[in-house]
Amino acid sequence: MENFENILERSKMLSFDLNFEYARNWKSKEASRVILGYTPIYFPREIVHAVNGLSVGIFGSGDRKQIIKGDAFYQSYICHIPRGIIEMVLDGNMKSFDGFVFPSICDVMRNLSGIFKIQKKGKFVKYLDYPQNFNPEIGGTFYIQEMKHILEYIFEINNVKLTTENLNNSIRLFNKNRQLIKAIYDLRREFPWRITYEELYHIIRAGTVITVEEHNEMLEGVLDFLNNEKGEPLDKIKVIIYGAFCEQPPVGLIKTIELAGCYIIDDDLVLGSRWIQGDIKDDTDDPLKALSEAYLKNSTFSSSMYDVNNPKGERLVKLAKDSKADGIIFAAPSFCDPALLDIPQLQQACDKHDIRHIMFQFSENTGQFKVIKEQVGAFSDSIKLWV
Ligand code: SF4
Repeated sequence: MENFENILERSKMLSFDLNFEYARNWKSKEASRVILGYTPIYFPREIVHAVNGLSVGIFGSGDRKQIIKGDAFYQSYICHIPRGIIEMVLDGNMKSFDGFVFPSICDVMRNLSGIFKIQKKGKFVKYLDYPQNFNPEIGGTFYIQEMKHILEYIFEINNVKLTTENLNNSIRLFNKNRQLIKAIYDLRREFPWRITYEELYHIIRAGTVITVEEHNEMLEGVLDFLNNEKGEPLDKIKVIIYGAFCEQPPVGLIKTIELAGCYIIDDDLVLGSRWIQGDIKDDTDDPLKALSEAYLKNSTFSSSMYDVNNPKGERLVKLAKDSKADGIIFAAPSFCDPALLDIPQLQQACDKHDIRHIMFQFSENTGQFKVIKEQVGAFSDSIKLWV
């Protein structure tokens, strides 16, 4: 088993490799391999894996690329992530990608899929609409058609047909991936000092750009490491970060929150890797239906999803209570409509249940953290001293 230091070093390199070298090398080993890029949040990676493909998460350029061309495509009052993605694709960082899927999340992403089409990037560009009707006969059928549409595109490229056996096998591997991630989160909730959240973030994010088989091996190594006591608990509060499900905060901001006296014990960053709660059936005659049912019935909560009869505020409160969090930090990207529209009702739910919270906005390329450190430090102190 690979040791933790190596896993961490590799994760840091993989999760911010804006040239996607790993995927390119992986593809070069077999003619029928395809790479499909997808934007946040959730994408059913199982279907691509089952037809000899690798789904690669595209999370923007963060604070690691100067934006020049990207600014020409969006107004100044739009979030930062689409600019970084345009910059990368126009600079040829995703030349080896065969296709792109833009899961429905907001109008900005919908427009980005249009820009990819106009710029003729990849062999196909698909805007993936998720069902907002949760009746399996209606929304479920629609979602299965959407997944089949993606499979048709891939078939045109590599001639690999989906089989029940292959898809069940892929579901099994991703079930294991989710189980391992959950086990790591559960353990870390109790012993957050054993690895920092910054380390965990890199490890989970690396899983979006490599094969699930390799990520599962990595996660097993991390779990093994976490199972042993190390370090000492510090006088910090436990917090949940919420609102950064699409554009990711800079790593410096994550470090700042930790340094300001917080253990981050849950979050919605890279949420797609933990989107489905529990296992998806992996032994049915209709695995596409199993994926669809899991989406309709076992999705987590998020601003990008309609919460019929299951309000997000209550679910966030339950998460905070179950994980014994001392407070919630709402951290949303500047100009992110879905996050910023939702936060007031989530704050109301927190107030109703006496859960302390603060809020700030960020940009993936934010460079100054002093004000945020003071704000989070005061939040942490107020909870330690007066609760
Ligand atoms: S950060 Fe928010 S507004 Fe921007 S693309 Fe993502 S979901 Fe849409």
